[in-house]
Amino acid sequence: MKIIPRDQHCISRKNISDGALKVMSRLRGSGHQAYLVGGAVRDLLLGGHPKDFDIATDATPETVHALFRNSRIIGRRFRIVHVRFGREIIEVTTFRGHHDNDAEPTTETGGNHSRQSASGLLLRDNVYGTLEEDAVRRDLTVNALYYDSGTFEVFDHVHGLKDLERRTVCIIGDPAVRYTEDPVRMLRVLRFAAKLGFRIDRDTARAIPGCAHLLGEIPAARLFDEFLKLFLSGHAAATLELLMQHKLLQYLFPGTAQSLQRDMHTLALVRAAMVNKDQRIAADKPVTPAFLLAALLWPVADRQARHLRERGDPPIPAMHSAAQQTIAEATQHISIPRRFSQPMREIWEFQLRLQQRRGRKAAELVDHRRFRAAYDFLLLREQAGEETEGLGSWWTDFQQLPMEQRLQQVASDKGGRGPRRRRSKEGA
Ligand code: ATP
Ligand code: MG
Repeated sequence: MKIIPRDQHCISRKNISDGALKVMSRLRGSGHQAYLVGGAVRDLLLGGHPKDFDIATDATPETVHALFRNSRIIGRRFRIVHVRFGREIIEVTTFRGHHDNDAEPTTETGGNHSRQSASGLLLRDNVYGTLEEDAVRRDLTVNALYYDSGTFEVFDHVHGLKDLERRTVCIIGDPAVRYTEDPVRMLRVLRFAAKLGFRIDRDTARAIPGCAHLLGEIPAARLFDEFLKLFLSGHAAATLELLMQHKLLQYLFPGTAQSLQRDMHTLALVRAAMVNKDQRIAADKPVTPAFLLAALLWPVADRQARHLRERGDPPIPAMHSAAQQTIAEATQHISIPRRFSQPMREIWEFQLRLQQRRGRKAAELVDHRRFRAAYDFLLLREQAGEETEGLGSWWTDFQQLPMEQRLQQVASDKGGRGPRRRRSKEGA
């Protein structure tokens, strides 16, 4: 174990939340060890601002819970304690120990156990241990650094600091074994490589193809949680490239992965959507998973709709059935809550309504609650090179007109030509 004294690293207590400092000092005060760990230490050492603070301790979840009135024990696969300070939640985990692979599967009751499936997948991991044991149970070396807010020392048991300096994402231990225990770690490797702009260690990357199929065992709900982290943390564009490069996209969105390989057009659309999301996050604008999903699954839905139209279905019912089928197929792999799949569908179906530039309906469309997202989606399609006969710029101008002028416009327009500019604005 390497110990780095306070004058040899850049972590300052100033950048650690009061809640986290309080939790650590109370745990120490009652005779326990307590360290800041994981992403917070990593981000502090990189000079960034952690978004949350996780703490590791030798106290059991029950002990931690008893020490903090504002806490509760959560989780089953991993039992952890959430300590709440206003809006901030500090996550406290008890050091995890080694689990005995040869042991008989333990009973479902009781806390201090681990379980593995026949294939080596870790079902439960609640064996408690020491700091050293805890360090090697973590996923990446750069996520396994510990900071002691009492002595100001950093503890490094797995060459995490070296990998931070080399800017390398490296799995701890034998990559194939660690991926087999928890296949989601492959997604985490790519996520952190994208987020931190790090390269991926050679062996860490090499073991992925042989283990990738294990992602098929992961429950759809967990994949959705991971999808949100992959695509909504401001590095979606880089993440998408890595997912394609390492052939893992097919475990999240198989239909999309296939399409993107075949069709440069849809690839351009999905890439543009990711860049757009990242820019919005960088500008602190709100982003919704619905829009992201609409872009990621559009290649599948659009192809299906085209297929149905060729078979003779009218456009609207074709899009409707295509959406339904696309969602049904996608949710076999990744669960998509209705609150996201519904607006996603509306964005798709709106694409047809936007083609209609005549009549009262077109004038009213602008005030529809889904207009904004659907219009943004249309622009994205154009940006990706789709030919829409100037539809995007028509709506760009048209939506700026007051309702009265919109009505005049759709009554006189033959469609296809751009709307007249708002006179008052030009004159001003
Ligand atoms: P972020 O900045 O995205 O929150 P993080 O490093 O804090 O990054 P979390 O998902 O919050 O990531 O996990 C906290 C810590 O728990 C990680 O740093 C890692 O040490 C450990 N961890 C999380 N998931 C796993 C896993 N699947 N296997 C092993 N260790 C894990
Ligand atoms: Mg975290």
